Amino acid sequence: MRLLIANGYVIDPEQGINTGKSVFIEDGRVVGLLSHGDDVPEGCEVIDAIGLIVAPGFVDMHAHLREPGHEYKETIASGAAAAVAGGFATVCAMPNTDPVNDSAAVTRFIIEQAENARLANVFPIGAITKNSAGTELAEMGEMKDAGIIAVSDDGHSVPSPGMMRRAMEYARGFDLPVIDHCEDKSLARGGVMHEGHGSLVLGLHGMPAAAEEVDALRDCALAELTGARVHLAHVSTRGAIEAVRRAKERGLPVTCEVAPHHWTLTDEAVADYDTNTKMSPPLRSRDHIEAILKGLRDGTIDAIATDHAPHHADEKTLEYDQAPFGIIGLETAVGLAFDLVNQGGIDIERLVEVLATKPARILGLENRGTLGAGAYADVTILDPSFQWTFDASRSKSRSRNSPFDGRAMTGAAVATIVAGRVVFLHPDFEKLVTSGRKALAKGTSR
Ligand SMILES: [Zn+2]
Repeated sequence: MRLLIANGYVIDPEQGINTGKSVFIEDGRVVGLLSHGDDVPEGCEVIDAIGLIVAPGFVDMHAHLREPGHEYKETIASGAAAAVAGGFATVCAMPNTDPVNDSAAVTRFIIEQAENARLANVFPIGAITKNSAGTELAEMGEMKDAGIIAVSDDGHSVPSPGMMRRAMEYARGFDLPVIDHCEDKSLARGGVMHEGHGSLVLGLHGMPAAAEEVDALRDCALAELTGARVHLAHVSTRGAIEAVRRAKERGLPVTCEVAPHHWTLTDEAVADYDTNTKMSPPLRSRDHIEAILKGLRDGTIDAIATDHAPHHADEKTLEYDQAPFGIIGLETAVGLAFDLVNQGGIDIERLVEVLATKPARILGLENRGTLGAGAYADVTILDPSFQWTFDASRSKSRSRNSPFDGRAMTGAAVATIVAGRVVFLHPDFEKLVTSGRKALAKGTSR
């Protein structure tokens, strides 16, 4: 099986490559980069990527795929389909399923379901504590042997600092990063939106920014104490980002991610009580968004992750107070990231870095997040000028809970390739796939 992604513009921050090249793939691995004038190797299928950007396959560090237990919201197969449709070759599955992924058996089940789906790479994240209850450490070693790449009790923080210390020491022994949902329950309890002017006006219980910041500061201190790799999930506050900035300045192994809704929308979006604006952490005020944008520009924020959290329409039509937290995000993340590029907030190289290079490195995914020779042939092809509108009713996800339904976007992932197989190709770009030498020559002469 040979594939040539020809005539594109390759951006691979890990190799420092930002130039016109063709990517030659054989048997699921990258053989190397060819120059545009080079002969097409024998027997190649060809994707003509003229005018397009060819990047290492994007990696979503943070998604809720709901299986086992909540298949009416999402399955691993439907989540993987949404992932590749959104440009993600790899998606990581948070453990808050039913049962919770706190055992090798659940880890193996998730991997089997993903292999059956044959779409995205799916890497499970194991629980920090049994049933994510915060009281007893889960069997991280057994789960690691079965295939987890990190641990997290996402959805909750680990309430006790003493327990979190032991968890970090344990995870460090297995070289697993600890992904940290920062939300001090005693501060956030009962809150359904950001605490501030908006919550006062709307009469909704607020979650103060300090609920996130207290845990972020605590766990940066514990990273120093234990030497564990700590990754703060979905940071949304100035204080949490500042905590990461200071930790990095001191050389601590602390990283963080941000989700697109947290820079795209403010808490003002809650004003019409649309439950698709309810997530945890909540949409924040403008000053926090400025801190996120600064963190994305200066490198304090390492990754963009979706926090894809499907919920059934029957749940999201409940009262604002009662509805579950979370929105789907796999198919809108890249479009919203292009907003930043189009507004001059970050350049396209940085977009690739936060969506591919850095997440792969944080998770220790060897031979992913790069197009270096020998890497897995996971590729995301981007059209920065493609204009499209997100239609939630046509999402590959089983759920529809998005505040971005009907939103016009410029810039998209138009093809996703996993281990040399084209697993997603936007209908408007089908004509770009051809086979053989003749087709390429036609392509290059355009
Ligand atoms: Zn979370």
